[in-house]
Amino acid sequence: MSYLPLKVVWTIELTKRQEKILAIAKEEGPITGEQIAEKLNLTRATLRPDLAILTMAGFLDARPRVGYIFAGNNSNQLLEREIKKRRVKDYKAVPVCIGESTSVYDAVVTMFLEDVGTLFVVKEKGVLAGVVSRKDLLKVAIGKQDLQTIPVSVVMTRMPNIITCDPEESLYDAAKKLIDYQIDALPVVRETEEGSKALEVIGRVTKTTITKAYVELGSMLNI
Ligand code: ADP
Repeated sequence: MSYLPLKVVWTIELTKRQEKILAIAKEEGPITGEQIAEKLNLTRATLRPDLAILTMAGFLDARPRVGYIFAGNNSNQLLEREIKKRRVKDYKAVPVCIGESTSVYDAVVTMFLEDVGTLFVVKEKGVLAGVVSRKDLLKVAIGKQDLQTIPVSVVMTRMPNIITCDPEESLYDAAKKLIDYQIDALPVVRETEEGSKALEVIGRVTKTTITKAYVELGSMLNI
């Protein structure tokens, strides 16, 4: 059997014959290649490349000793599967964290040095205490206070009001949170102990993370 790369398979349009094969599998599956060939008045050998393409593209399921089963009817289902299988843990970036007593001035410097727009504020052992965004810092910066003496804990959004995500969560659900709550970043967290309210920061998902995954998906589908 010759294999076509998935990239090619995903973007091709189905031929009339491939559509017929799918219709037969949908109606009568599981059905063997021989039986499909008979119905179409073709030889098994003629059909082989079509069956290979449909199987690799995810339209058909080939079960050994059982036959072909219809698995999906359009590329939307493939796209849906691709989107749903992406997990936060596979895309998360390294979190940039500061302590609660860090000054607003040092937080601004950290944002520039680390090239991020959101900082996570943590207690001992990386336990999440707050989130500081660009705007939080700008707000204090336009005041008259001495930025060297104000701790970030004064301006941060604090627990329990922080929207977080779990490493096992789908990247799609994380992206939805960014949109729904109108924020730029989510800390990726895990419970320090089973059932504990203390959450350890283990990563970061931002709008950049989502954009990267989006572009990756696009190039994978050969857009
Ligand atoms: P910007 O400063 O660019 O507007 P965001 O839109 O991310 O950045 O932040 C808006 C507000 O939401 C800020 O006050 C920030 O502290 C808060 N915030 C940011 N991220 C979170 C989060 N994950 N959970 C809760 N609040 C957040």
